[in-house]
Amino acid sequence: MKTGTYLEIDLNIIRENSKLIVEKCRPLGIEVLGVTKGFSAKPRIVKAMIQGGIMDLADSRLENIISLRKKGFIQNMTLLRIPRLSAVKKVISVTDCSVNSEYSVIRDLSAAAFSIGKKHNIILMVDVGDLREGVLPEDAFEMARKVSLLKGITLQGVGTNMGCYGGILPTLQNLNMLLDITKEIEKKVGIKLDIVSGGGTSSLKLIGNGEMPAGINQLRIGEGILLGTDTTHDNFIPWLHQDAFLLRAEVIEVKTKPSVPIGELGHDAFGNIPVFEDNGLRKRAIVSLGRQDVNVDGLFPLDTNMHVLGASSDHLLIDVTDAAQNIKVGSQISFKLNYQGLLFLCNSKYVKKVYKKGAL
Ligand SMILES: *Cc1c(COP(=O)(O)O)cnc(C)c1O
Repeated sequence: MKTGTYLEIDLNIIRENSKLIVEKCRPLGIEVLGVTKGFSAKPRIVKAMIQGGIMDLADSRLENIISLRKKGFIQNMTLLRIPRLSAVKKVISVTDCSVNSEYSVIRDLSAAAFSIGKKHNIILMVDVGDLREGVLPEDAFEMARKVSLLKGITLQGVGTNMGCYGGILPTLQNLNMLLDITKEIEKKVGIKLDIVSGGGTSSLKLIGNGEMPAGINQLRIGEGILLGTDTTHDNFIPWLHQDAFLLRAEVIEVKTKPSVPIGELGHDAFGNIPVFEDNGLRKRAIVSLGRQDVNVDGLFPLDTNMHVLGASSDHLLIDVTDAAQNIKVGSQISFKLNYQGLLFLCNSKYVKKVYKKGAL
């Protein structure tokens, strides 16, 4: 194994997870958008998704979509965060579709698209309870009616987001509400909606249980492909792989020290007053990573006998007293990541990304 501190990425696993999800969704008539924001849209990972059968992509950051376009990706791309009013021209030039909930933005998207002889697709976001983005169910029809009159816009469908702000899980009930709204719009506005977008990774559970209501025909999946986990349900997805990403970190100090700091207690580097439990003398390792690079709560040592003690900007402390391996300066400690941990690391310019050999 290479020494140093880096994020190790196994593209074969990402391809395999993509394939497993696409194949599970296809018989149900559900298209999977590959969501690329969890790894700042790194091209090799995007390619692995595509090789696994993902046809269309989506990202919440316009910057990521622009960078994929510059690198020659021609896939259909959906912008997953409501566009800024100040960015509508960019949105119509680089994306095929965006999610929306504000009439003023949709109107400007329409004008910008119309002025260059284009039509921009939108998904109208409906809030079925999570209280993040989206029009309320009772306002969906009126918004759809107004939007349907805009010359530069195609209202391609409706969508919803769950498990983000309010922690509301996708259920038969809230997805059926979305389907009812779809039918109401189709009937009263007299248009056909091609897409009913039923959420992200947290909606895979309904598929696993055979409970996905017929009519939902798109899911936007990031976490499931990347990590094989579902944070909102707090579990592993049993039919996916969990080991596409491993963080390897090099040890720069090993010392046995007391578990409670010595001296007068003030605030730590982040303004918190720390609390310590006295476990006597412990063997502690410092690895070359810090809060600039990682979300400490998003890291889990592979050796479950090791424990993350904390971190400052540039130092991460691990209790290695009970470690299986004899940890020394220069040793490597390996960590699994959750979605937050992965997000931070992918955005850290200090942590190298290393693709596992023999992949793709
Ligand atoms: C990030 C995001 C997703 C993907 O969520 P995962 O949990 O990673 O599958 C889907 N929809 C929207 C609107 C998002 O912002």
